[in-house]
Amino acid sequence: MGTRYSEIKNYCHHNHVTLVAISKTRTPDQILELNEQGQKIFGENKVQELVVKHETVNKSIEWHLVGHLQTNKVKFVVPFVSLIQSVDSWKLLLEINKQAKQNNRVVDVLLQIHIGRELTKFGLSFQEAREILHHPELAKLNRISIKGLMGMASLTDNENQIRSEFRSLKLFFEEMKSGVSGLQMTGSDPATLSMGMSNDFRIAIEEGSTMVRIGSAIFGG
Ligand SMILES: *Cc1c(COP(=O)(O)O)cnc(C)c1O
Repeated sequence: MGTRYSEIKNYCHHNHVTLVAISKTRTPDQILELNEQGQKIFGENKVQELVVKHETVNKSIEWHLVGHLQTNKVKFVVPFVSLIQSVDSWKLLLEINKQAKQNNRVVDVLLQIHIGRELTKFGLSFQEAREILHHPELAKLNRISIKGLMGMASLTDNENQIRSEFRSLKLFFEEMKSGVSGLQMTGSDPATLSMGMSNDFRIAIEEGSTMVRIGSAIFGG
């Protein structure tokens, strides 16, 4: 795990990209080992696993949720999560806002955009995301902060296909940042564009990613 991790970490650091270690299916010991090598941000794709690991690995880790979130499970993650990367509906935003208020906090989120070809993947179309970011009631949701966008490219060996999907997301990201929109950039934080996984993070970074989510390339398997 050591060399793979440090190579990826250095590569991300060099490119000013935030590295999220995706620890789904990995043990608390594996998480702790990576944490001791300096990794602070971890991501999980299932609510139950995220909650258990947060409770088990009692460290100052920042936890991201990167997988689909059902409205009725929002209450389990809102108390501690540092970024929900997978918001794919207005209804979900409303519930996160409500739970955040009850927990007396502001929750950072990304909108997940469907860019890949897989029909089953969750995510908003560009138009649906546009509608959310221009929603007249968005400003009232003062317990959420939309920090940017997340997307997953198709599972394919076709590099051109992957590259063009990332490129389309980057273009949309620029449109949303420059237009009058709900993308919130507080203080000196630039907006977040989360794209790139083990098999495609180098392409994603070339295409303008600011955050990558990497599991198997770090942990193996
Ligand atoms: C599993 C997962 C990743 C990491 O995938 P790897 O191919 O193991 O790097 C990234 N993002 C999401 C949403 C995932 O579910």
